[in-house]
Amino acid sequence: MRGDKFISSLDDGRSVWLEGKRVHKIPEHPAFKGTLTTIKSLFNMLDDPVQRDQVGYAVGHQGHYAHSAFLVPHTAQELSRRSQSFSRWSAETNGMMSRLSDYARSLVTGWYAARHQLSALDPNFTTKITAYYEEARDHDLFLTTAIIDPQIDRSSGLDDKRISERFLHVVRETEDGIVIRGAKMIATGAPYTHDFVIFSFLQFQTQHQKHAHVLIVPANSQGLHIVCRESFADSREQNHPLSSRYDEMDAVLFFDDVLIPWERVLLYGDPEKVLALRANKTANGLAFHQNVVRFVAKLEFVTGISIAVAESIGATGFLHIQEKLGELLTQIDVIKALIIAAETTAVLDEAGVLVPDLSYIETARSLGTKYYPRAIEILQQVGAGGFVQTPSGVEDFYGPISELMHLYFEGASVSAEKKVELFKLAWDVIGSPLGARHLLYERFYAGDPIRGLANHYSRFDKDTLTAPIWRLLKQNSKGRMTTI
Ligand SMILES: Cc1cc2nc3c(=O)[nH]c(=O)nc-3n(C[C@H](O)[C@H](O)[C@H](O)COP(=O)(O)OP(=O)(O)OC[C@H]3O[C@@H](n4cnc5c(N)ncnc54)[C@H](O)[C@@H]3O)c2cc1C
Repeated sequence: MRGDKFISSLDDGRSVWLEGKRVHKIPEHPAFKGTLTTIKSLFNMLDDPVQRDQVGYAVGHQGHYAHSAFLVPHTAQELSRRSQSFSRWSAETNGMMSRLSDYARSLVTGWYAARHQLSALDPNFTTKITAYYEEARDHDLFLTTAIIDPQIDRSSGLDDKRISERFLHVVRETEDGIVIRGAKMIATGAPYTHDFVIFSFLQFQTQHQKHAHVLIVPANSQGLHIVCRESFADSREQNHPLSSRYDEMDAVLFFDDVLIPWERVLLYGDPEKVLALRANKTANGLAFHQNVVRFVAKLEFVTGISIAVAESIGATGFLHIQEKLGELLTQIDVIKALIIAAETTAVLDEAGVLVPDLSYIETARSLGTKYYPRAIEILQQVGAGGFVQTPSGVEDFYGPISELMHLYFEGASVSAEKKVELFKLAWDVIGSPLGARHLLYERFYAGDPIRGLANHYSRFDKDTLTAPIWRLLKQNSKGRMTTI
């Protein structure tokens, strides 16, 4: 089964650091065990004759099933197949695992799909991306991205040596490739990824060519250190049903003179070309599509918990609770509607690839940064103090005070034990370290939301909206002298 293959592939000499120690057996470490068990079962879906068509597609005639993130869509059916696979994996993890590699895989697939447009950037691009895409697809490679430069001093830039020496840059070129030094933040899933897709989110100037690159970096590269944040995994399943299974580790990457072979250097040395690759609509349309499909599963999950909590304490009859639950349902509808809009207005690019409409997708991503914090706020308002009146564990239901436990923890519509389990699940979403991390994730995973919206305004053709206003005012002031 490919789940087992995935797990054993992680024993490849990678340098993963947690709490001051190097982690040697990643699948056995308590910080990763539950999460890897989840990922293993997702990988195995591709070997299951009943489930594999829901998440994958047959490549060529060899009968190999690849995840549909690798499918280049030319028809509405193929686009829908991609969407369905994202939806299925997300539903399996209640939307609580966001970087199951289908996003980074989609980005690589997008670059491959757009290779003829992008070959203008570098004549070797097509050969390199084709070889890598096929390898990733045929070997089920798990991928993640690391595109943010370290948060040292955001008021300064690459003309400051403190910054330029620490942002990822090329220190020398060799016959075999380029040697890079510096750091990247944040790579979700880093300890168990196969390869990192690396580039910078920033727009560099011409003189900063050493910092301009798009690379594929194997996680076990010599000199690469993966420095994990504190683990939020908690093996007590009943107390922490989410933290025990879904803690996607986030890590910072240190590149201590890492050699990147030329075949994995997709672009290098020209900031404008790197920017053109980053802005490619085919790739971004396919990749960001995954983000919003996954988000629906998470909203549905939080809404389901909120309704169940309200029912369990007899609060569903209160008007303000109904209004809040209605708001959550509206959130789901809005994001779903934007996905439908993006898919149904998808257009064929010049190579015949069907690309979902990015403007709807960007709108959904942007709304998501506000929707999720609001959804968590609503869940808190619905359950109120109930979240902290749960016992430390369910063990007390089987001990000497069992009878009292059943008496005092009973809910309006559920048994005491079920109510406690439900509130523990809800607490894992709103109050645990994992829950706090998810709040941060939804605010920032798509980049800085403030600058995202500001850019939307800056790029928008504002005349389309202001011209009618001025026209109207002109009509109103007929006969009078006005200036605009
Ligand atoms: C849980 C989590 C997981 C993540 N996983 C990944 C991943 O897998 N891969 C990946 O590549 N990235 C990942 N990210 C990183 C994410 O893309 C960044 O957090 C996001 O782009 C914001 O950048 P930053 O965190 O460096 O914030 P900063 O850019 O440092 O911003 C800090 C504050 O300063 C403000 N600010 C900074 N610069 C400016 C400016 N020029 N103008 C105006 N305001 C400014 C911001 O608005 C913000 O309020 C993850 C982030 C989180 C929280």
